[in-house]
Amino acid sequence: MSSIVKYSIVVPVYNEEEVIHETYRRLTEVMRSTKEAYELLFVNDGSKDRTAEIIKEYSEQDPAVVLLDFARNFGHQIAITAGMDYARGEAVVVIDADLQDPPELILEMIEKWKQGFDVVYAKRTKRKGETYFKKQTAAMFYRFLRAMTDIDIPLDTGDFRLLDRKVCNQMNSIQEKNRFVRGLVSWVGFKQIAVEYERDERLAGESKYPLKKMLKLSMDGITSFSYKPLKLASYAGVTLSGIGFIYLLVVMYLKLFTDSTITGWSSLIVIQLFFSGIILIILGMIGEYIGRIYDETKNRPLYIVREKYQLETREEVSLRD
Ligand code: UDP
Ligand code: MG
Repeated sequence: MSSIVKYSIVVPVYNEEEVIHETYRRLTEVMRSTKEAYELLFVNDGSKDRTAEIIKEYSEQDPAVVLLDFARNFGHQIAITAGMDYARGEAVVVIDADLQDPPELILEMIEKWKQGFDVVYAKRTKRKGETYFKKQTAAMFYRFLRAMTDIDIPLDTGDFRLLDRKVCNQMNSIQEKNRFVRGLVSWVGFKQIAVEYERDERLAGESKYPLKKMLKLSMDGITSFSYKPLKLASYAGVTLSGIGFIYLLVVMYLKLFTDSTITGWSSLIVIQLFFSGIILIILGMIGEYIGRIYDETKNRPLYIVREKYQLETREEVSLRD
């Protein structure tokens, strides 16, 4: 179990047959220029197209290419977790397959790593070719998350980053099921630094992150790192009963000292609907936490591997199995 591989490039792929050729070409070009040993570890997250076959073909000709093939789609965060579990390199880089993250930036990351940084994360200064809605919601989310949590999660930063072996080992020991990987990396600590870049357009194909997956990721981010939503119920309760009490005084005053009476079936209904809504939202939020507690207690494996292609099994992996 020697570490002959210096760099592991972890690439999660889900239905990426349209871009995978170019991704392989550009990553190979960049990594060869380092003149050091590397591996391209593709994690196939249950693709329904030819992605896995294409990677296997590359792997036949190029020993640097290895494939971890999931039994089904487990999601991006789980795919990169598995990649980190199986990576052998002294430095591990996680990068998207669609070339939105420019592979050339890896060289800059490596430089910072050689200067002694343990985590080098890529911060987006610009996002090209993404919808206004996505950019705005993403920007809002990162700021909201920062306000909600106590740990220092950098703004506008995705999962494109380099991790030193020791950080990667720490990540591999985290057993959490609903993972928000970039938050966990911040939580682990060590010496971290940013490199900036402009996020390109997706080379081809569509985003594999529909709104539903984005919402799941956001909820994972918030619930993994904050209890504040749970406290909201008590804050709302205290505020609303305060308002209710004041209103009671007003009503009593009007009844006792004036001739006016308070009428209104409609206002009653509005208030009723409004507060039932608040109560249900809060119940739902508590449900989000309970569901996650349930996931933890079931303690299922994080992912199921169908096949390890050209990938040697390592001892550390059993840590999670
Ligand atoms: N991905 C994955 N599993 C999924 C969804 C996405 O492995 O369930 C991969 C995808 O192939 C890509 C990366 O995660 O390499 C980021 O996905 P995408 O580019 O579609 O997300 P976006 O950039 O639109 O947020
Ligand atoms: Mg993308």
